[in-house]
Amino acid sequence: MGGSRRLRDRRDRLWSENPHCYICGRITILPSQLVKDYKISNPAKLMKFIPDEVKKRIATIDHEVNRFDPRRQVQEGRPRTYLACKECNDNRGNKDYNRLPIEERQERASHEEE
Ligand SMILES: [Zn+2]
Repeated sequence: MGGSRRLRDRRDRLWSENPHCYICGRITILPSQLVKDYKISNPAKLMKFIPDEVKKRIATIDHEVNRFDPRRQVQEGRPRTYLACKECNDNRGNKDYNRLPIEERQERASHEEE
């Protein structure tokens, strides 16, 4: 399921304060909860096993200023983060990405292949 340890801790803390997605408002699910429910500890296996409906609701961390926004780099201190379901986080990421100029997208794609 990836992500740094720090981000996971932060996500778990946000979830314990308020488990709702800040974009669509539905209750999100922590991967650790799925591990308990499905009794599968291997994340790759778990992701194959759980239905898409459940996958969409997995709790993820979202940044107020998205990762393609140049303002993010000049922000002081830590960016503010929110809890979002996987579906909203994915949608937002794609939308942000599609707004980028084509040269910028090609540039990023070439880095991802390295
Ligand atoms: Zn959502």
